[in-house]
Parts: sequence; C-alpha cells; structure tokens
Amino acid sequence: MGLNLIFLGPPGVGKGTQAEAVSAHFLVPKLSTGDLLREGVAKGTPLGKEAKAYMDRGELVPDPIIMGLVRDRLAGTNCREGFLFDGFPRTVPQADQLAALLESMEQSLNRVVCFVLSREEIVRRLSGRRNCPRCQAVFHVESRPPKQEGQCDKCGTALVQRNDDQPETVEARLIVYENQTAPLIQYYKNQNVLSELDASGPIQAVQERLMALLSSL
Ligand code: AMP
Repeated sequence: MGLNLIFLGPPGVGKGTQAEAVSAHFLVPKLSTGDLLREGVAKGTPLGKEAKAYMDRGELVPDPIIMGLVRDRLAGTNCREGFLFDGFPRTVPQADQLAALLESMEQSLNRVVCFVLSREEIVRRLSGRRNCPRCQAVFHVESRPPKQEGQCDKCGTALVQRNDDQPETVEARLIVYENQTAPLIQYYKNQNVLSELDASGPIQAVQERLMALLSSL
C-alpha cells in the first residue's frame, strides 16, 4: 500500500514547498488542486475559465469541480504509490468524498499533517511569494530568492505574483480558511490521523521536523 498523506493548513504556510521535497524523497506523487486549477486557467480550458473568478476573489472553487479534477487525476496514475494531497481537501464534503474514493481504491489515509504558523508570518510569506506561471515553481523574495531576480531557476520564465496573493485577496482567503477548511482539523483529529507541525522558521528547519514526523509513521 502507498503512503497517503494530506498537507493541511492556511494559505502561505509552506505546504506546497514542503510537498515538493516530500514527494521527491518518498517518490509519492503530489496532487495540488491549486496547481491543477492554475494550469487550467493558464491553458484557458472551460474548467479553468469557470474556476478563475472564484480564485481571483479568494473564494473556494465549488466542490463538484474539485472532485472532478481529483477523480481524473487519481484515475490516471498508479494508486499503489500513494498520494500527497496539497491544499485538498478544503471542505468537509470534499473530505467525505475523498474518504469514499480512497475506500473504493482499497486505500486509506496514513496521516494528515496540519501546518501551524502565526498569522503575521503567513501574511509576510504570501506577500513576498513569487510564482513561475509555466512550471509552478515557488519562490520568495527574501527567504527563497531565485538565482536571477524575477526569473524561474528551473525554466527561466519571468516570475509573477499570483492574483490572489494581492493583500485584499489574502485577507479573504484567510477568512475562507477559518470558516470552511479549519473544521477539518477536528474532523481528522476525531479519526486519530492528525499531526500538527510547527511551520515556523527556515524551509530547511521545517523540512527536518517534517521528515522526522513522517519517518516515525
Ligand atoms: P492554493 O494554490 O492551494 O492556495 O489554491 C488557490 C485557489 O484555488 C484557492 O484560493 C481556491 O480558489 C482554489 N482551490 C484550490 N484547491 C481547492 C480546493 N480543494 N477546493 C476549493 N478550491 C480550491
């Protein structure tokens, strides 16, 4: 059976950055619904067009769209390797539907890692975040600067600030997180699969804490 993990936590907490490292280390495919949606937006697919308005407002994309994406993605891969879900599920109905989906594949969740960070630090990380619109690599102007200013290390594309990382939208996303996603903490605590991770400090320090946690599973 593969390793099935969920990275839970507010936007800007470093889930995606750590998911990259964990995915490479344990050879578990990362499934980020945010990345899949942004790909759809960039390509101008019907799904991307529908999702864009919600994303620009900092709201959640409706559950049926998200579940469609996740089902397609799971169907196209070898499930035995397991999965690392980054930014999914984000609502209780999504979590319920994921549970049913995993059951139908005779899989179960190994662990939900909840990233914990102060609001002040979250806002700082989000405001300095820069993204590659082509390969989805993520940088930060202070804590993870690209080698060439404004340019992706991996593919050389000009970096952008995500529309939804503008200060007005960040506020909305944090409220959406508290109302719609934070209830999943108790949801997974009740299932005895939740571990909290201190997400403060440098990327490397967080990664060491995370690897220690995962190695103990
Ligand atoms: P992220 O990259 O995870 O911060 O996601 C960016 C945006 O995509 C979110 O603010 C939502 O609008 C949308 N999104 C990503 N994942 C989900 C999800 N699981 N459910 C609903 N909306 C999502």
